Amino acid sequence: MWHYRSTRSRITTPFVILIIVVTTALALYLSHYFRQAYLETLDTRLLADLRVLEDQLPAYDAADDLDAIARHYRELLDARVTFIAADGTVLGESDYDRATMDNHLYRTEVQQALDQGYGNSIRYSVTARTDVMYVALALKETAAPVRIARLGLPLAEVQAELTRLNRVILTTALVAIGLAVALAFFIADRTTSPVRQLTAMAQRVAAGDLSARLLPTTEDEVGQLTRAFNVMTEKLQEQINALTTEQTRLNAILDHMADGVIIVDTEGVVQMLNPAAAQILDVTPETAVGSTFSALARHHRLIELWLRCQRTQEEQRDAIELDHGRGLFLQVIITPQRTPATPGYLVIVQDLTRIRRLETIRRDFISNVSHELRTPLASLTALVETLQDGAVEDPVMRQRFLDHIERELTAMTQIVEELLELSRIESNRAPFFMQLTPVETLVAGPVERMLPQAERAGLTLTAELPADLPPVMADAERIQRVMTNLLHNAIKFTPAGGRIVVSAQREAGKVVIAVSDTGVGIAEDDLPRIFERFYKADRARSSGGTGLGLAIAKHIVQAHRGQIWVKSVEGRGSTFYFSLPTT
Ligand code: ADP
Repeated sequence: MWHYRSTRSRITTPFVILIIVVTTALALYLSHYFRQAYLETLDTRLLADLRVLEDQLPAYDAADDLDAIARHYRELLDARVTFIAADGTVLGESDYDRATMDNHLYRTEVQQALDQGYGNSIRYSVTARTDVMYVALALKETAAPVRIARLGLPLAEVQAELTRLNRVILTTALVAIGLAVALAFFIADRTTSPVRQLTAMAQRVAAGDLSARLLPTTEDEVGQLTRAFNVMTEKLQEQINALTTEQTRLNAILDHMADGVIIVDTEGVVQMLNPAAAQILDVTPETAVGSTFSALARHHRLIELWLRCQRTQEEQRDAIELDHGRGLFLQVIITPQRTPATPGYLVIVQDLTRIRRLETIRRDFISNVSHELRTPLASLTALVETLQDGAVEDPVMRQRFLDHIERELTAMTQIVEELLELSRIESNRAPFFMQLTPVETLVAGPVERMLPQAERAGLTLTAELPADLPPVMADAERIQRVMTNLLHNAIKFTPAGGRIVVSAQREAGKVVIAVSDTGVGIAEDDLPRIFERFYKADRARSSGGTGLGLAIAKHIVQAHRGQIWVKSVEGRGSTFYFSLPTT
């Protein structure tokens, strides 16, 4: 705050000094002037008195007692009277004993009077213990033997008068100085107070309080400054608001976008990264910001790409498979930013893992369909050719071949039908008829139908349902199809002597049905994929299935707002579970 005081004192100090100097000079001058004027008046008066005395003196003759005459005039003139001879001898004296007095020839006023006819002098008189004004006049010849008449007036009274006057002057001067200083302070304060307020407001604005405003009190420069400042703050607030909105939007976009965005400065230090980037690169944003991009990347191809962009200062893009054990497939684009405000690099990381997987699935799907259809088509072609080549003539052969052709056609029809069914469920074109159905109804039919097959394969198949199961919301025909598929698989993948058990369990809001077998089980690598269409574990390649059964089951269960999953230990058996809601 010191500089406000400084501004105020910068204004007041020169004023105060000026006022003190002028007033003091004036006081000194006045005091001196009054003294001079006073003394001059006195001098004139005493001289006039002396001239009157000179006029009267010839009327006395030498025999007269000059002391008595002096005392007489002393009464009249109220001043000490001394008569002095031409040689300086005191001839008459009003106030003192002449015998004790020395020769007066060399008194200043006497000398002046002898020289010029008139003289005056102010001296300190030891006897009177005060300054005394002496005025001497050389008298006309007729007044002999007296040559010089002198009047002496003690200045004590005059001095007192002058002192009084000086006191008045001093008091007036002090009052004037006091008033002037007070005024100077007042004006300085009035002038600087808006500036102080403005400064306080500027400090509030600087501290972030943009609502700070000041009412302009004057129309002068400070008032204009205040107005300008208000406008500026308003603009600032608007801009900051706009920026904040913009930033909030940007943050929302960055936070929710699926692509990773990383901003790196020219030194290679990460300035910002969004949650997607942190998730893709498997880092926490707190540790990532401030570390170098190379440390963040942890992958040689990503680092290479980054270095290349630094070197060439051109956009670099590459598809990179991250091997952090998560099999991520990334598209990375690094662009140098040349904006002067924020030079650096913008890194965009797109996670293409899902897209690539979908692409793989699509490719696999087409190749699977072709593959599944090629085999029966090839055998059909072979059968037809053999028939044409003469087998048609042999009734036994003909019948065998035709049976074979029928089986192949059934298999193909099954594939096509299952595919159609799948796409119907997927595209929601097949309506579901949901109604509360006892679990018993869903399980008993398929188990009964599959029992002969199980027995043929040397397996036991049982259903063990608790008595108190609630009914479930289900399209019975479809769920029976799921059951059939699961049982079919269980029979297919369980060697003779095994056991297949269907069970069910009540859970919160749903019933979980399980089909458990003691078969070959499923390899851990296959587990996540068996619900994909056409997926068959290697060992099942020759089993004659289409690989569509579980895909259809999954779609049906999901359409029921249920879930389907599997637990399996290779070589020990598998259990397939699916849940159905009770409401
Ligand atoms: P498929 O028509 O070939 O049976 P699915 O979609 O029904 O097709 O099954 C896909 C794959 O899941 C099968 O090829 C098999 O490898 C595996 N699988 C399904 N059920 C079982 C099971 N109970 N035991 C072992 N493997 C199974």
